[in-house]
Amino acid sequence: MLEKEYDVAIIGGGIHGAGIAQAASADGFKVLLLEQTDWAAGTSQKSSKLIHGGLRYLQNGQIGLVWECLRERERLLVNAPELVTRNQFLIPVYKHSKLKSWKIRLGLSLYALLAGVKKNRFSKLPESEWDQLKGLEKENLVAVYAYQDAQTDDRLLTKAVVESAQLLGAETLCPASFIAAEQLTNTYKIRFQQDNSEFETECRILVNAGGPWINDIVRLITPTPPSIDIDLVQGTHIVISGLISENCFYLEAPKDQRAVFLMPWYGNTLVGTTETLYEGQPGDAVPLQEEEDYLTDTLSHYFPGLRVNIVERFAGLRVLPHSEKSSFQRSRETRFVCSNSSTPMYIGIYGGKLTGYRATASKVMKHVHKVIGRRQIRADTRSLKLRAQ
Ligand SMILES: Cc1cc2nc3c(=O)[nH]c(=O)nc-3n(C[C@H](O)[C@H](O)[C@H](O)COP(=O)(O)OP(=O)(O)OC[C@H]3O[C@@H](n4cnc5c(N)ncnc54)[C@H](O)[C@@H]3O)c2cc1C
Repeated sequence: MLEKEYDVAIIGGGIHGAGIAQAASADGFKVLLLEQTDWAAGTSQKSSKLIHGGLRYLQNGQIGLVWECLRERERLLVNAPELVTRNQFLIPVYKHSKLKSWKIRLGLSLYALLAGVKKNRFSKLPESEWDQLKGLEKENLVAVYAYQDAQTDDRLLTKAVVESAQLLGAETLCPASFIAAEQLTNTYKIRFQQDNSEFETECRILVNAGGPWINDIVRLITPTPPSIDIDLVQGTHIVISGLISENCFYLEAPKDQRAVFLMPWYGNTLVGTTETLYEGQPGDAVPLQEEEDYLTDTLSHYFPGLRVNIVERFAGLRVLPHSEKSSFQRSRETRFVCSNSSTPMYIGIYGGKLTGYRATASKVMKHVHKVIGRRQIRADTRSLKLRAQ
């Protein structure tokens, strides 16, 4: 039942909205979560589905992000064993690969160190085992490195976090579209639409977890809260019929040497991703032919005999701070943009990783505690179990 006033109202039922609803409810706050389409309807079901520190982010020096995500990966492996599973990732290195063997060794050593070496040792596959890598191009192959990371079903993970928030008492409405908010003396008055009817309520803290829609949502709030200029960068994945390997592969795209992953996915193979600047409406993003070609060319380069039959394709949007730099080099850190006044308060969540959603939510809670104070704690998200539905 809709309350007259909430402590925290969250717009967007992707992984961040779900995580913040869970964390705020666990901390004893009265929470409202609004999602316009379906849980994980946006980027949160269009990711590469990796629960990882992000080995390649080490190349850009994003050590803090990698460390935090590796911590969260370990927590998720314990708290959500039905949803997050370890897998072996293989990196084939060829005579002409841009990423040289020594650099990969160095990266993997640092990755293992950040993750805790004991459980995260990497290895070099002995040449005698290369034959087991069915279909992989062996000509000019100089090494194959193996390390551990994890995979999930991002949509099911998001739904599980929503369910956890519900069990902790959050009011979660879907489909329910946020229409407008207006700042009053101590609260925001917010309006939303559900089943063709309009509803009104109030909240102390308004969280904008709208993913690629974030700046569209900013424009619905009076007075307009602060925001940052962003680029939406599309990432396409294709699903290939049949299982190429039980393991994941980390491949260097022959066209531009970006990282492309190949992963088992419900008996088929998921391949991605691309980076294409997107300028349309967030809901309209679709895979482009040139992106499919880029992915199938990469696949055929490493698995030359493969018959590529695409059974599914999807495109997700990264939210990156606007910059002239290539998107591959831009930071994947989450940014928080908050209003200056402490009562009531607005918090916008820009970017971030699926893997780090819980850490992001706990940073949001620090802002919430500053404004509202503390309540009777109901649970600790560091150890809350998540169930697959
Ligand atoms: C191609 C790609 C691959 C990625 N791969 C990985 C990976 O392997 N591992 C990893 O850790 N991270 C990955 N990420 C990052 C991760 O997927 C995202 O950071 C995360 O999913 C973003 O979640 P979100 O909740 O911020 O946004 P979204 O999931 O986009 O959620 C925003 C929600 O807001 C809703 N909304 C919008 N407007 C309104 C409104 N007016 N009223 C109500 N609701 C509204 C939308 O319907 C949507 O559901 C990847 C990202 C991309 C793009």
